Amino acid sequence: MAFSFLKDALHQRQQQGLLRQEQCVERYDAQHIVIGGKRYLNFSSNDYLGLASLPTPDALHHLPKGSGGSPLVTGFSYHHQALCDYLATSLKREAVLLLGAGFSANKAIMSVLGSQKGMRIVADKLAHASIIDGGLASDATFKRFRHNDVAHCEKLMQAENTSPSAVLDTEKVEENRGNRTNYTLVVTESVFSMDGDKAPVPALSALCQENQAALCVDDAHGFGVLGQQGFGVTELHDLPQSNLPILMGTFGKAIGTGGAFIAGSQALIDYLRNFSRDYIYSTAFSPFHAALTLHHLKQCRQDAWRREKLAENIAVFKNEMATIHAGQVSLLPSDTAIQPVIIGEPEKALTVATLLRESGFWVTAIRQPTVPKGTDRLRITLTASHQASDIVALVNQIKAICTA
Ligand SMILES: *Cc1c(COP(=O)(O)O)cnc(C)c1O
Repeated sequence: MAFSFLKDALHQRQQQGLLRQEQCVERYDAQHIVIGGKRYLNFSSNDYLGLASLPTPDALHHLPKGSGGSPLVTGFSYHHQALCDYLATSLKREAVLLLGAGFSANKAIMSVLGSQKGMRIVADKLAHASIIDGGLASDATFKRFRHNDVAHCEKLMQAENTSPSAVLDTEKVEENRGNRTNYTLVVTESVFSMDGDKAPVPALSALCQENQAALCVDDAHGFGVLGQQGFGVTELHDLPQSNLPILMGTFGKAIGTGGAFIAGSQALIDYLRNFSRDYIYSTAFSPFHAALTLHHLKQCRQDAWRREKLAENIAVFKNEMATIHAGQVSLLPSDTAIQPVIIGEPEKALTVATLLRESGFWVTAIRQPTVPKGTDRLRITLTASHQASDIVALVNQIKAICTA
C-alpha cells in the first residue's frame, strides 16, 4: 500500500493506548450484553427505555426492507409520511424532515443555514461533533460559548456585529436567501452526551427572541425521555415553534431504532428539502424502518412506566454513589440517564473500567481529548431495564475498586 501514513498513524495511536476498536456484541439488551462469550451488566447503552428490544408486530413484516431511493426520487412512502405527521402533531410543529442519521441532520441544518450570507453560528462549547463539523464546513462565522453560559452566549451573539442583526425568520427562510444581512443561529443540546446535564433552554430561547436570533436544539438524548409523554425538550419546557424554531431529534437513542428528524416551520423544512445535499443525495430509510419507528414512538408515549422506572434508577444510583467518600470519585451534576463518574486521570479511568469489566460490568471510560484534561471519567448510562440490585452491585464494585 502506497500510503505508509496509515500504518504509522495507527502504530502511534496504539503506542498511546488510544487505538479505537469496535467490540463485537453477540447478544444485546439494555440490561445485559454478551461480548466475547461473557455476559455483562450493560451500563453503556443509550437505549434508555429498553425500547430497542420491543418485539416487531407481525403486521409490519411484509413491508419493504429497503426504500430503493432517495426521498425525492422513490424513497419516500406512505409510512414515512405517517411518521412525519405523527411527529409534527406530537411536537406541535408545522413540518418534519426525516434523515438517515442524527449526524446528517445536524450537518444539514448547520451547512444549509450556515451558507446563508451573513450567518453567525454560536454553539455551546460541548456541542456534538456533527454540529461542529457542519458549522465549520459552512460559510458562517462559527463561535462557541462556554458550556451552558447564557451571558457568554449573549456576548458572542453581539460581538463584531457591524450591521444590525436581521430577524432570522424561519417562517420566511426562502425570502431571506440572498439578502446581505446578519443572522444569528444559536445551537445547543437538550441533554449533553458526555456530561448528562441539561442546557438552559428557556433562557436561551428568551435570549434569542430578544436578539432576533433563531434557536436550534439537538434533542438526541432528551427525545423519548423528557416530558410526561416523552416528547422531549419541547414538552418539558412547553416550547412552541415560535420559541424553539429548529428542533432536531434522533430515533437511535431512547426510541430504540435509528435515524433522525428535523422539525420546524413549513418554510424551514421546505428550504432544507430543497437545499440540503445531505437530504437530497442519500437513500431514505426503508418503509419497514419508518413503520417500526412509528410503532416505537407510540409505545414510548404509552409506556410512561419506562420513564418512571428510569427516574427511579437514576435516584438509586445517585443515592448509592453518595455513600462513597468525596475525593475518591465524584459525580457531575446530572439528573439524567447519563451519569459521569469523574476519575481524573486517563490511565486510572481506563484501569477502573477494565476492572469493572472483569467483575461483569460493561462500563466505558471516556478520556481526553474527548473530555477536558483532568475530567477523565466513566460514562455510566442507566436505563429502565436495570433492576435496583444491578445498580447497587455496580456502585459497590466502584467503591471496592476505588478504595482498594
Ligand atoms: C448521537 C448523537 C447525534 C448523532 O445521531 P446519530 O443518529 O447517532 O447519527 C447527534 N447529536 C447528539 C447530541 C448525539 O448524542
